[in-house]
Amino acid sequence: MAAAVRRRRRGRRGTGVAPPTDVAAALRHAGDTRCLRIGEGVLPAVVEVLSTCFGEESAVVVADTNTFAAAGREVDDHLRAAGRSVGPAIVLPGTPAPYADLGTVVALEERLRAHGGVPVVVGSGTLNDLTKLAAHRLGRPYMCVATAASMDGYTAFGAAITVDGFKQTMACPAPRAVVADLAVLAHAPAAMHATGYGDLLGKITAGADWILADALEIEPIDPRAWPLVQDGLRGWVAHPERLRTGDPEAVASLFEGLIMAGVAMQISASSRPASGSEHRFSHLWEMQALAHGHGAVPHGFKVGVGTIAAAALYERLLARDLTRLDVEAVCASWPSRQEVERSVRLRHGPSLATQAVEESLAKYLDAGQLRQRLLLVRERWPAIRERLETQLMTAERLRDRLRSAGCPTDPTEIGIDAPRFVASYALAGTIRRRYTVLDLAHETGLLADCVDELFAPGGFWNRVAIA
Ligand SMILES: [Zn+2]
Repeated sequence: MAAAVRRRRRGRRGTGVAPPTDVAAALRHAGDTRCLRIGEGVLPAVVEVLSTCFGEESAVVVADTNTFAAAGREVDDHLRAAGRSVGPAIVLPGTPAPYADLGTVVALEERLRAHGGVPVVVGSGTLNDLTKLAAHRLGRPYMCVATAASMDGYTAFGAAITVDGFKQTMACPAPRAVVADLAVLAHAPAAMHATGYGDLLGKITAGADWILADALEIEPIDPRAWPLVQDGLRGWVAHPERLRTGDPEAVASLFEGLIMAGVAMQISASSRPASGSEHRFSHLWEMQALAHGHGAVPHGFKVGVGTIAAAALYERLLARDLTRLDVEAVCASWPSRQEVERSVRLRHGPSLATQAVEESLAKYLDAGQLRQRLLLVRERWPAIRERLETQLMTAERLRDRLRSAGCPTDPTEIGIDAPRFVASYALAGTIRRRYTVLDLAHETGLLADCVDELFAPGGFWNRVAIA
């Protein structure tokens, strides 16, 4: 299977054109989403889509004041004009933006319970996540009307919700139907296209992490999900500069990529196809911001900086010959379970420590298991390196792409100062059990040296000269 993946990628080399992707074909393998309507001016189709997917059930529009103005009122009007039974719209305050935490989910759930009917959420990331989980808790399928190409969660399994200060993916089905009017998406603020671009570009490092996990027999690549994201990825991320002006074709292409990433997650019932080390950085910063009460930075902006950070770490590892790794020396200084628990607890604040310890211990290897893992790394490194080099882009190129899209590229631009950023390299891998490049660097005993090199004179982050 991995060979098939490699062949597919090689076949594309040199053409410069991504193969056509077929969202409809991809959807046939998805369990939750039955109907996806994307196109210019398709907003009135909400009536038909509602009938096709939900019969004659009543509906209730969920929005915030911004998305209600952008498309929610129109959706509500179309449904009423068609004679559908529609409850009073639930419109949350748009400023400050709603937060995706469990308290807000429960409050929305209560309001939906009072209304009955199919929730029709009009909005993007947070509104979709809130409604997805609230609808699931009520045992109701729901429908989503997209308002921005700002993240990949529209068609994704699970909702990213913060519970007791810890961001987690709560298991719940994707929407039964999604309607996306490209004219509405193109009119979203340019910063929302940029955040979607950051989330999509992160699939470069997410794919590299999956290659690693596959090659080391930790988590095999899912042959149904991988091509949905990776085959078209280079085409979708090719022209970030066009997003700044809201070029409709560029926004449509970005949205297609985000939808395909969501479908891949839905098919795998896992975020693995779309989330790796870059998302570990992003989630760490989100959780730290919660603990410190910092302002919200859009998800894709953090993922973008995380993508550069992960790619820069990959470069340091790829500069080494791991076939010469001194396995016995690494095993001899490997910490015990108790030492890992103590150090993870110490390095995280009290609000994150408990879950970080649980996640870190879930993937803890004893010295014997570590030896087996490292022998595999040593044996397979030439093949792994080749696959990674085909998959990855340089940190510098990723930074240029993000900058062209209008994304922040320097940690300080998203409120992460230099000491916190340096520390993030050691902390990001501890918050989830999923295997990524952060684990490879840690388990080979090379993380600290690689990070030193990144911040030393001439190193990638030193050249960037973060404050
Ligand atoms: Zn994401």
